[in-house]
Amino acid sequence: MLLAAMGNPAPYPIYWDHLLLDASQVTNPSIDPLREPMELRTYLGSKPDRLEFEESSEGKVSLKTKISPQIKLNYPIMFSAMSYGSINFNLHIAMARAATELGIVYNTGEGGLHPDLYQYGPNTIVQVASGRFGVHRDYLNAGTGIEIKIGQGAKPGIGGHLPGEKIGPGVSMTRMIPEGSDALSPAPHHDIYSIEDLRQLIYALKEATEYRLPVSVKIAAVHNSAAIASGIVRAGADIVAIDGFRGGTGAAPTMIRDNVGIPIEMALASIDQRLRDEGIRNHASIVVAGGIRCSADVVKAIALGADAVYIGSAALIAVGCTMCQRCYTGKCPWGIATNVPALARRQNPEIATRKLINLVRGWGHEIEEMLGGMGLNSIESLRGNREKLRAVGLNQVELDILGVKPAGR
Ligand code: SF4
Repeated sequence: MLLAAMGNPAPYPIYWDHLLLDASQVTNPSIDPLREPMELRTYLGSKPDRLEFEESSEGKVSLKTKISPQIKLNYPIMFSAMSYGSINFNLHIAMARAATELGIVYNTGEGGLHPDLYQYGPNTIVQVASGRFGVHRDYLNAGTGIEIKIGQGAKPGIGGHLPGEKIGPGVSMTRMIPEGSDALSPAPHHDIYSIEDLRQLIYALKEATEYRLPVSVKIAAVHNSAAIASGIVRAGADIVAIDGFRGGTGAAPTMIRDNVGIPIEMALASIDQRLRDEGIRNHASIVVAGGIRCSADVVKAIALGADAVYIGSAALIAVGCTMCQRCYTGKCPWGIATNVPALARRQNPEIATRKLINLVRGWGHEIEEMLGGMGLNSIESLRGNREKLRAVGLNQVELDILGVKPAGR
């Protein structure tokens, strides 16, 4: 079987490039983000439909509604799931440190959490995938959120394979598997064959963490994503993460990577609309991944209905990845997707941390500029605000799915 890495390079339409943002002109004046405060803070998790307050006998007003656990992000951006093993420890610690300094989160991927990274738990999403590598009670309780990975945009419907050559002592200990053995994740979770089964796992994880952490469910963007997302929200997930077919990976069969899944823009618009139509949009946050290339894509994703985005390939490019698509060889020349000590040394964790911070801060400034141009001073005002988008070069069916008007209307 031919293997490939990173995202789908086939020339399918990129809908972000057919969407244009609005800008204020005479009325509703624009805002200068250098002179006025802008709010990018985002909270991920289930929100109440309404707030109730109560007044004490002394006249003190307090919130009566119990708010579900939330993940606080200073930017609507998170580092995608990349397991320790698929990338090396130097980069994992750089992601953890960068997320901590930025006030965002990174995601362990399915490789467990190295003991040295527990200190970054408040900025960590711990993943539970079908292989359950490194999953135990302390691991679950170490993070600020838990993600059940059902699918991945680069390889929907299939499992994962980390070759034995990448399973050295550190990876072996963290994943709780023997050194040198292949880490094979099954295609399905063998305890999930229905939405009811998924619900049981969601609540088992909530129970194991005393209902302190939001639980996310990650799926690949596929043909009926909207119905699947609705089921996931009704099963009790606090966050739905959707991964589009341009999402990267360390290894995937080439035919799967290039021919399976759908664009994230279509999946996002249809899921947001479906959850709104069913009156359950507030019950879960939507996070999108797989093809977020720049800050404008983040802004367009939020206008289409996302609460936040994951970035993976963009983060790797920031630390030197040249998109050579050879990650599966385990011999990444930039010291990223490799555990060969001589190659891994090419990534200095201190320098990588600074580069990741610069990327997110730079995107943050650009997002503020675009928001200010639209006359908005908070990311919350943009969420699902498709009036701020206009489309060029799309047919009526595409416009209907995206819920966006054509330019000029
Ligand atoms: S530079 Fe490294 S991480 Fe980037 S695509 Fe090549 S092998 Fe993969």
